[in-house]
Amino acid sequence: MTTHQLPKRVLVAGGAGFLGSHLCDALLARGMRVLCVDSFHTGRRRNLRRHRNDPRFRLLEADIAFDPLPEERLDWVFNLASPASPPHYQADPVRTMMTNVLGTQNLLALAARHGARFVQASTSEVYGDPELHPQREDYWGHVNPIGTRACYDEGKRAAEALCYDHMRAEALDLRVARIFNTYGPRMRADDGRIVSNLLVQAQEGREMTVYGDGSQTRSFCYVSDLVRGLMALMEVEKTPDGPVNLGNPDEVSILALAQRIRDTMRTPSRIVFLPLPSDDPKRRRPDISRARSLLDWCPAVPLDDGLARTAAWFAQGGRARTGEDSFARPAE
Ligand code: NAD
Ligand code: UDP
Repeated sequence: MTTHQLPKRVLVAGGAGFLGSHLCDALLARGMRVLCVDSFHTGRRRNLRRHRNDPRFRLLEADIAFDPLPEERLDWVFNLASPASPPHYQADPVRTMMTNVLGTQNLLALAARHGARFVQASTSEVYGDPELHPQREDYWGHVNPIGTRACYDEGKRAAEALCYDHMRAEALDLRVARIFNTYGPRMRADDGRIVSNLLVQAQEGREMTVYGDGSQTRSFCYVSDLVRGLMALMEVEKTPDGPVNLGNPDEVSILALAQRIRDTMRTPSRIVFLPLPSDDPKRRRPDISRARSLLDWCPAVPLDDGLARTAAWFAQGGRARTGEDSFARPAE
């Protein structure tokens, strides 16, 4: 067997998290060898429990910002390590910034040393509260650099800058995904993001919380579509010239989303309005022309189907046991 035919050796940083664990599933299903590196800051071992006896899967508990990373042959590196939910990333903002800057730097240097192809999980948050709608990759964004979201937004922007500096200096084979709001099974019940909050509140008959008047919009992508996009971005032979938006362009207001969930789940819950967090983006929808043309990728799962699958997962006990997850919504 030539080296070319050997199964790919893939490092997934953040592989115990929501997206990362689905990505590990997809890589292992394709016969690849996976080394998951995770600090368990927001991720959970149970997301990976199904792979514990698979000899192609290894799990290393390590912080990408501060711990040594393994020196071994690597073909691909995916960097998904970072809290993604606002309450999670704002709970320890300095740690969020360090993860995205120091951690990404450490992974980039590792990939460069081993000649590995690199996919960076960036975010629509690099566009901040956008003045351009829908958001195209050539838009530079509108970010408050000193606000409560800055640890994440600016951390991810700095990480992108580091990525492209390494690409220019070391001919790193780099691909940057700007991921828009993604949801699905394995989101934490206490994640604090809108889809998990509303589904769990509706299932428990509690008040469904809408921040502000709910007129702000988001565009929600189901997890299987997103993982397919990340795989396509890694596999495409020609390196894209710049970042690639991955998300579902189906835009919905937050109030409409809450009403849809309330009506389809026939819950007695009522919708309540709470203060809007600072710097909350007003509109967000990806322009995915680049992903369509470069990757032949577009989302396939409609919002109602994805919500039903996610609701079923929470209903089957997907949520964490009391005390297992302990992030609260930060004070306004
Ligand atoms: P998540 O919180 O479920 O997963 C993040 C994972 O990274 C967790 O397992 C966590 O323990 C790990 N981690 C955090 N800091 C670490 C560190 N210093 N060292 C090692 N591991 C660390 O979040 P997610 O929704 O799965 O997001 C995954 C990635 O995708 C993140 O980089 C996020 O910024 C990006 N992203 C996600 C979305 C989304 O809607 N889910 C949108 C845009 C971007
Ligand atoms: N949001 C809300 N109620 C909640 C949680 C979030 O109205 O219980 C709002 C939030 O203010 C934002 C939108 O829903 O306008 C999406 O929030 P999320 O945290 O899911 O993602 P992000 O703001 O990072 O896009």
